Amino acid sequence: MSKTIVIALGGNALLDPKTNGSVAEQIRIIERSCEKIAQIIARGYRIVITHGNGPQVGNLLIQQEEAKELVPPLPLDVCGAMTQGQLGYLLQQELDEALQALGVRLPVATVITRVAVDSQDPAFRRPTKPIGPFYSERERPALEQKGYILEKVGKGARPWRRVVASPDPKEIIELGAIRALLETGAVVIACGGGGVPVVCEDGNWRGVEAVIDKDLASALLAKELRAEMLLLLTDVERVALHFGSPQEVFLDRLSVSEARGYLLEGHFPPGSMGPKVEAAIRFIESGGECAYITSLEKAVEALEGRAGTEISAIHLGQRIKR
Ligand code: ADP
Ligand code: MG
Repeated sequence: MSKTIVIALGGNALLDPKTNGSVAEQIRIIERSCEKIAQIIARGYRIVITHGNGPQVGNLLIQQEEAKELVPPLPLDVCGAMTQGQLGYLLQQELDEALQALGVRLPVATVITRVAVDSQDPAFRRPTKPIGPFYSERERPALEQKGYILEKVGKGARPWRRVVASPDPKEIIELGAIRALLETGAVVIACGGGGVPVVCEDGNWRGVEAVIDKDLASALLAKELRAEMLLLLTDVERVALHFGSPQEVFLDRLSVSEARGYLLEGHFPPGSMGPKVEAAIRFIESGGECAYITSLEKAVEALEGRAGTEISAIHLGQRIKR
């Protein structure tokens, strides 16, 4: 049976921050990303695509805010689900086209995915993830009245921003549906934006205003699907030690224990490279073959061992047997 790869697309695979984020601009970037993914699919792998949604959900929240006198604003969980549909649709369009160009005929389907988190997760007591628009000092009291937690993250007239919790993903509710689709041969898009976070309440799932890290959700999905590989695609070709400093060194490969050590030493900051390395570690520790962190451009080369940073169970030249 062909190997399964979970491919996590970072923000730059979906939107160029230098553009105004119009739908035409989004399509242009997504088209390029899908050409790369189609090349991987054409090599015979079973693929699940996950993706971020930061800028998209940010824009949607601005629309809620600006139109609140006309239509009731939608909460964050609903906005998250909307961006899964938005990006899933655009990915379906562009991936269909890219696959056809390579003569591959496979269905592509998006699953709106809920991901369970623990309502007692300590992250709920310490929100860290900035989302949505920036606010002025004048707007602050009304927002805080609404229950928003604001943090001063910028400078100038609009320095305030809402922060929400980023709890750990525990369970993928739509796992069975994703698996069933994969078994039919479909390319599946799931866990967009890290999934819509839900908590269990009296035996039912309830959406919460939080954001799950998409790299950690991808690692959980890859584990649950027993995927062989996890491919984390971002905007750097390799993971570095002393990133951005004169001592910077880029790494070809890392064992799980080395990765854990460097993470503890602070080489990989939370909110950017940290969750990617953590996701790779979790995936390998759960039985995955290998994880790669690389750029979209180098994705194909990384799978052939010619680019990217490979994280595996190999330590001191020894492959640990599992
Ligand atoms: P994505 O949208 O793909 O999740 P992020 O911005 O969250 O992207 O994370 C990728 C970024 O992490 C890179 O653009 C890079 O600037 C930054 N980064 C931080 N530390 C490192 C490191 N040690 N090695 C490589 N990149 C790093
Ligand atoms: Mg990120």
